[in-house]
Amino acid sequence: MTTSRTYLDYNASAPLRPEAEAAMAEAMAMAGNASSVHAEGRRLRALVDRARDSVADAVGARPGGVVFTAGATEANNLALGFGRERRAIVSAIEHDSVLQPASESAGVSVAADPDGVVDLAALERALAAADGPALVSLMLVNNETGVIQPVAEAAAICRAYGALLHCDAVQALGRMPVDMAALGADMVSLSAHKIGGPQGVGALVLAEGVAPPPHTLGGGQEGGRRAGTLNAAGIAGFAAAIEAALRDAAQQERLAAWRDAMEGALVAAEPQVRVIGAGSARVAGVSCLAMPGFAAETAIMALDLAGFAVGAGSACSSGKIGRSHVLQAMGLPADVARCAIRVSGGWATGPDDMARFADAWLAAARRARRAA
Ligand code: PMP
Repeated sequence: MTTSRTYLDYNASAPLRPEAEAAMAEAMAMAGNASSVHAEGRRLRALVDRARDSVADAVGARPGGVVFTAGATEANNLALGFGRERRAIVSAIEHDSVLQPASESAGVSVAADPDGVVDLAALERALAAADGPALVSLMLVNNETGVIQPVAEAAAICRAYGALLHCDAVQALGRMPVDMAALGADMVSLSAHKIGGPQGVGALVLAEGVAPPPHTLGGGQEGGRRAGTLNAAGIAGFAAAIEAALRDAAQQERLAAWRDAMEGALVAAEPQVRVIGAGSARVAGVSCLAMPGFAAETAIMALDLAGFAVGAGSACSSGKIGRSHVLQAMGLPADVARCAIRVSGGWATGPDDMARFADAWLAAARRARRAA
């Protein structure tokens, strides 16, 4: 029985970086409210302003465009508030925090291809058919497959139709460049806990002149766009995590090599293993794997017992493994989709973690086959 744990579920939440922990401890030791005019308030405000500069810099935006929120779910809901005045057009592989607000405003969904990339021709058709100005939402990196989406190309299409573009860049930040101008995005959602910051803090970053209708009322914070006392410690931890993530580009190269070697080992030993999205450009360290007959629940539980934490896609947000709308939108047969697990590494992943995962997965798959 092993006691050591190997955490490979960064897409669900990354471990807290020491830099973020230290910045939060410093902020939590300070008294006050960042909106107060006294010295204590001004000190906290200065800390929030520095964090705002870091978050803005990370995505090439103006500090005044950063609206701090309680995570990306809230940021996505805030952005999709435009769906009340514009027709929402969203990709079918978005996170539920985009899909649900879009469906409430009778939004249109755009399909993805079998490699997990949104269909830009379908996006253009949806824009051409829209009965008025549209709001398009397309993520930069899918949380289940790691597949990179053609956001800059989508932005060019959006511009031709006078549509606004929102981009959920939660799974891209720290893994690839996220530059708002280069992407052509009007709004970008970010979350701290996917890059080693604290849970419950994120941001919606707005391009100049873009102002979604506020959805939290009751205070003038964040330029009136998001009421509520600022989570100064969380915001400080978020900024420290972003700064550390941007200094850590070499880890992405290592993760890409470790992930590729792990996938190669699995496919060599078990040729029926499918690496979902492998035909597309993917971010480093993320792998969506399925072997028909080896159910995701069985795999995740066996790996957990062997000391490995891996995910089953965002469908397990309620603690149960449901059907993945992402894999469904990619047209994956149900018997393959129900076997898909997600392995995702990050800043603290070590050189042998993926290789040891491959050994543990192969042992678990063989045991499951013998038991069948
Ligand atoms: N978008 C994507 C792509 C995500 O992966 C997640 C987290 N599962 C979210 C949004 C929601 O982020 P948060 O946990 O900060 O609300």
